[in-house]
Formats: sequence, C-alpha cells, structure tokens
Amino acid sequence: MKIIFWGTRGSIPTPGKWTNIFGGNTTCVQIILKNGKTLIIDAGTGIRLLGNYLAKREFQKDIVVLLTHSHWDHIQGFPFFGPAYDPKQNIIIKGFSSSFSILKDIFTNQMLTAYFPINFSDLKAHFKFEELSFGVDHTFGLTIEVIQNVHPGGSIGLKIIEDDKIFTFLTDCELEPVIKNQTMWNDLLKFCKDSDILVVDGQYLPEELGKFDGWGHSTYEQDCKLAIESGSKKLLMTHHDPRRNDVGIFQLEERAKAFMKSQNSSIKVRAAKEQVVYNV
Ligand SMILES: [Zn+2]
Ligand SMILES: [Zn+2]
Repeated sequence: MKIIFWGTRGSIPTPGKWTNIFGGNTTCVQIILKNGKTLIIDAGTGIRLLGNYLAKREFQKDIVVLLTHSHWDHIQGFPFFGPAYDPKQNIIIKGFSSSFSILKDIFTNQMLTAYFPINFSDLKAHFKFEELSFGVDHTFGLTIEVIQNVHPGGSIGLKIIEDDKIFTFLTDCELEPVIKNQTMWNDLLKFCKDSDILVVDGQYLPEELGKFDGWGHSTYEQDCKLAIESGSKKLLMTHHDPRRNDVGIFQLEERAKAFMKSQNSSIKVRAAKEQVVYNV
C-alpha cells in the first residue's frame, strides 16, 4: 500500500504561507493498493484535490470512501469532489451509523439549497451508502477492521490489511480520556498491534490537555506510547491543530522524536505532510 494525505489539518482548513509544508486541507487520505486501485478515508477539503488527481489517472469505476465520522472537517470537501459529477462513476460511502444520524442524510443535508447551489440529488454518479459494522469488511479484497473511538458524537478507527502489511488510522480519538479506561487502552493496543504505519491524531501538546479534555483528540506523547506499546513500526501524527503553523508542527515533531528517544524506542515518528507518498 501507498498512502497519500490530501488533508492533514483538523477542525478547519488553514490555507496560507504559514501552513504550506504540512498542509492546510482537512482530513482526506488516499490508500493506493498494490493493484493500483484507490481507497479513500474521509471527505475533508483535501478530497477536492484528490478528485483532480484521480481524473488524470486510469478510470476507476467503483470509488469507496470510508468515513470515520460526520464532523464538518471530514465531509466538507465532498460537494467539490469531481467524480461525484460523473455519470459513469459508482461511489460507495461506508460509515458507522452510531456516528451519524443517517449516513445519506449527512451528505444530502450539507448540499441543501441554503448551503450549496447544487443539490445532492443533482449529482450524476451512482451512490450507495453502506454500514461499516464492527465485523470485518472486505472492500477490494482487503481485510478492514473497525474500532470505536472516544470522540464527541462518535468516530471510528480503521485497520486496513493487505497481505502482510497493516495500515492503522485512528484520528479524532481521545486516547486517554479524563476517566482513564484501561480496557479501552488495551483494546486500542490490540487493534494497533504490529502496524507497519500507525496514523494517530496528534492535535495537542501534553501541556494543552487540561484545556481540551473531552474534545476528543490526543497528544503526540500519547501517540508515541500507543506506537511503542503496540509494537508499531512507524508513527504518523495527523489532524494538526489549526492554531499551529509549520514551525509549531516542526516543534511538535521534534518533541515527539525526543520522547521516542527518551523511551529508548527506534520507531520513526513524523508529523504527516500533504501530498507526500508514504510506503506501508
Ligand atoms: Zn476532525
Ligand atoms: Zn471529529
């Protein structure tokens, strides 16, 4: 698998020269499988550019979008996703219903006339909405597992296995909620075990936690602990805080590297950058 982040930012887009390096689009991740097919996680503003990218590649009739949850920063790019306007295109959106009212309504409502000039029913692609249960999903012949995250309104983590490679994606997840939950931590360790690439929400610094308890995000230090204890090989932090510019994210990354060193860990840790290819 190859992974490309088309959006690394949490909460709200942050365009501008201060965020060029790590990126200012909200969450959207492309997974390129070994047969060349693309699988998408989330439809933040980054999905607009991913749509442009796909238009220049070999046509893929079935596009699958796995949705972690329906917060604005994970769906707001969808009305600008080019393939949604192509009558030859099938788009399958898979989500978990406890995170949503009704999956289709989320997409329909954000395109109501009050918000957008084109209604969902005017889109030309053929749509299907499917439940992602806690069992195992086999989209494109993969093994996809799901875990429930601690996040206001709900969110899911995803583990995608292709042959012997494991890619785990856990954003919008409060790894250590105020009321500590050892069972949850143990479940997360099991879920992330031996990941080749582990992507975790690293929105906060440890000293910011008190202020943001209950907001549903995590710190680089918690991410590092999860990577170490789960035996993961590489850690990428994402969902960058909109208050943090490139310099701030570099500093967060340096602190994460220093923390790994202090734990005698050789796990590679990086803050995710948009449009960089990461090999799983
Ligand atoms: Zn988010
Ligand atoms: Zn969220």
